[in-house]
Amino acid sequence: MCLVTKLRMVFLVLVLIPQVIMFEMTYQSALAADRTFGQAEAASLASALLLVLALPGLVTDWIVGRQMDVLRQFCSRIKQGKYSERLVLPNEPRDGEDEDPLLGLIRDMNWMARKIETREKELRKAIDDLQQYRCRIDEQNRFLTAANTELLATQERLREQSAELENAFRRMQVMALTDPLTALANRRCFFEALEKCLASTDYTCRPLSMLIFDIDQFKTINDDYGHQAGDRVLLEMTKIIQANIRNGDLAARIGGDEYAALLPGACSSEAGRMACSIQAAVADHDFRLAGDERVAVTASIGICTFTRLSCFDTEKLYHYADQALYHSKHSGRNCVAVFDPDTRSVNRIKCA
Ligand code: GH3
Ligand code: MG
Repeated sequence: MCLVTKLRMVFLVLVLIPQVIMFEMTYQSALAADRTFGQAEAASLASALLLVLALPGLVTDWIVGRQMDVLRQFCSRIKQGKYSERLVLPNEPRDGEDEDPLLGLIRDMNWMARKIETREKELRKAIDDLQQYRCRIDEQNRFLTAANTELLATQERLREQSAELENAFRRMQVMALTDPLTALANRRCFFEALEKCLASTDYTCRPLSMLIFDIDQFKTINDDYGHQAGDRVLLEMTKIIQANIRNGDLAARIGGDEYAALLPGACSSEAGRMACSIQAAVADHDFRLAGDERVAVTASIGICTFTRLSCFDTEKLYHYADQALYHSKHSGRNCVAVFDPDTRSVNRIKCA
């Protein structure tokens, strides 16, 4: 039952019913004849009726207004975030018992405030958890960044070391194949190049010539002028050989005062011409030693040319050219001799 109805019942019982009873009691009495009394009684009855009809509404409006104020204040406190606020309520209605809708509204608002408070606590906890996760992730990120930086530095160091190793390897390769004094190819490099020539099909129908040079009486130069002077002569000799061979030919220092040149594609006569020009260039060269000292230097040269390479090997080519050189030495030095692989004979060349 709503509040207005309740108040109407109260006023009915307390005001209207007593008025009606009083009217009934005075209706038959002598007072009823009194016109003024009758008018007063009618007025009283009418005002009681009016009171029963109007006053409960006014009282209800006043009570509801007050409760609405309480509700508004409650809502504004909730808006301010004071979720623990509650409105005071009478006990819960028993089952089947009607409840004032306003009380029901207050109860629902309390329930909403409780829900909001719970949700807010859950939200705060979730935010705290998230912040903790974020801290942990930040820490892991820092660790990973440091590890990554370390890795990049290590990678850079490894790259540098690898480049150094590669350079060292290249230097060692060059050293292993180069004569340190003259920077010409050394014996090993020369024979590797010769093997490659013989393995290549290019030379099955092309001639391949080899020259071997040896400085005459080089020991005497060393003995007379010293080892450094000897080195100077070796360097000059290097220049002369390089100046008299073609692009693509290979000059090498085989050891001591012995040089060799590999002349791919050069026939016997061409090799002979080159050998003669080197022999003449050496003999004519002005070998200057320390100060103004000069020394006369000559070289003996041996030649061998292969035209059917499949029949020969490196050892033989070198051996034949060496035989020609030996022949030059024994023919009085400062001359050129050629070994003919077909006739297995050695002949001295007459240079122009
Ligand atoms: P031959 O005419 O018979 O060739 O007589 P040779 O005196 O030249 O004798 P040989 O070719 O055997 O002598 C080579 C000498 O070269 C022996 C060695 O002392 C010298 N020698 C070897 N390597 C070097 C070097 O790097 N520098 C100098 N200055 N001398 C060297
Ligand atoms: Mg010599």
